[in-house]
Amino acid sequence: MSIGPVIGVIGAGQLGRMLALAGTRLGARFAFYEDVPSSTSETLGKLYHQHQLQDFISSVDVVTFESENTPVALVDQIAQHKPVFPPAKALFTAQHRGREKNLFRSLSIQTAPFALVNSLAELEAAVESIGLPAVLKTTTEGYDGKGQAVLRSPDDVVSAWESIGHRELILEGFVHFQRELSIVAARDAQGNTVFYPLVENQHQDGILRLTLAPAPAVSAATSAQAQTMVQAIMDTLDYVGVMALELFDTENGLVVNEMAPRVHNSGHWSQDGAWTDQFENHCRALLGLPLGDASQSVNACAMLNLIGELGNWQQALTVPHAQVHLYDKAPRAGRKLGHINVTADSEAELQQTIERVQGLLG
Ligand code: AMP
Repeated sequence: MSIGPVIGVIGAGQLGRMLALAGTRLGARFAFYEDVPSSTSETLGKLYHQHQLQDFISSVDVVTFESENTPVALVDQIAQHKPVFPPAKALFTAQHRGREKNLFRSLSIQTAPFALVNSLAELEAAVESIGLPAVLKTTTEGYDGKGQAVLRSPDDVVSAWESIGHRELILEGFVHFQRELSIVAARDAQGNTVFYPLVENQHQDGILRLTLAPAPAVSAATSAQAQTMVQAIMDTLDYVGVMALELFDTENGLVVNEMAPRVHNSGHWSQDGAWTDQFENHCRALLGLPLGDASQSVNACAMLNLIGELGNWQQALTVPHAQVHLYDKAPRAGRKLGHINVTADSEAELQQTIERVQGLLG
């Protein structure tokens, strides 16, 4: 008879899948709850559907979620019966760009200037005070650059309001960044925290394509700044689990874009390039186990996302130091289907291996 604790995951996509792959090594079992039906199989744990919420709750010891769009009401409901981590207030904050930025501001963490707008007149006033260029975003449900418009001239204001307006929006000053970075950290219930190294993220069409770990040429001061920011956010939220902070690297230091209250795509490299990967550390935090060393176990690491189609991934298997991770998902434009982690002794060697893998994928 198995005796391991059961971790319940709200959602059953690739993040839940990779949590289960990592947590199973620690003797945990998994159950998944989906309020929207999908084609997910039951390979890694029992799958519960909407009408089976009570059964899901009864079957688990602790619950987590894989999406920041998880309804807070659902988390609150489950939390009456079983512990849920990260806490609902982290989810609630991350679901609204205004709440999120106000939290950053309250902790003196630098963000783009911003204003919430509910009408064309408010948008025009915000453009007046923030200036152009600026980025107009939905306050909720935006991800991978969806529900956004860049305003470059006053002529763009009305058309942007027409295309994504008629609801609450946030106008942000355009940040002239040199590159995009992120930091992933894990915190346990006692407040112990471990930090993964700062990584560089390269996007295409708003979707993460490539992560470099560590981010090339970051100063110790920049790393310390990122750690201080994520620590302050996690402490104030009584956070338990893994969190990611998306950052802009600018001439004037780091500017925070947003936080993700969950394991994050920019932390997938840790499966092959860190002593303890983000999924295992999330499970350790949920289970009250000591957190593992989050430092890098290799000199250089990269993660390449497989988006829309898998390409010739079988050929990538022939490359030494390239590890293929597939999510068992049907190909669809813009959909994340898997990733390949590449490790190397030096940045130069890493670059060569990345190019070799990209060439083989076709
Ligand atoms: P988000 O949905 O907030 O993650 O934004 C998607 C992408 O848009 C980011 O990864 C940036 O490349 C870009 N972006 C978002 N906000 C800003 C901003 N205020 N200034 C400049 N670029 C931005």
